[in-house]
Amino acid sequence: MSSTWVSLGSDLVTYGACALCDVPAADAELRRVEVWRDSLWRLTTSIGPGDPTPGFSYLEPLRHIRYVQELDGREAATFGPVLARCAAALKQATTAELVYVYIFGGGIPHLHVHLAPHVAGDALNESMLRGELEERPLPSGAVAFVSKDFPEVPEEELASVASRVRELLN
Ligand SMILES: [Zn+2]
Repeated sequence: MSSTWVSLGSDLVTYGACALCDVPAADAELRRVEVWRDSLWRLTTSIGPGDPTPGFSYLEPLRHIRYVQELDGREAATFGPVLARCAAALKQATTAELVYVYIFGGGIPHLHVHLAPHVAGDALNESMLRGELEERPLPSGAVAFVSKDFPEVPEEELASVASRVRELLN
């Protein structure tokens, strides 16, 4: 495999070593087929076996962009419309009630958005926490989930982070 150094912002990454840039190998390994692409993005859908729900899909930029915070240029400008269009098609194709969207980033450093069509009672849940969860009902009827296995971050620290984010964005 050839290896090309590509500058992305201030960092250098090994383009040729990226598991998702090698499209045929990635699709074969992840057992997925390409169902759509344009000049910037591609959507692939899992064909299993072993999937607990139908229609699990991946949206990825063709260009090697590592993380969502590094989106720029035309991918940044088109991300919202492309994501909405893909999610709408997946919802319609599966008759799901909604489509969960997850971006993690700790595995393969090539941006990939997981789209998971969901219906009530299927294998998917809304948990983003590890450990034993405690449900805390809110007045509105919504439910907050708290992990019993990890200490709660002090409220002063939570407020401080919110302030820093506000300063960075305004
Ligand atoms: Zn890549």
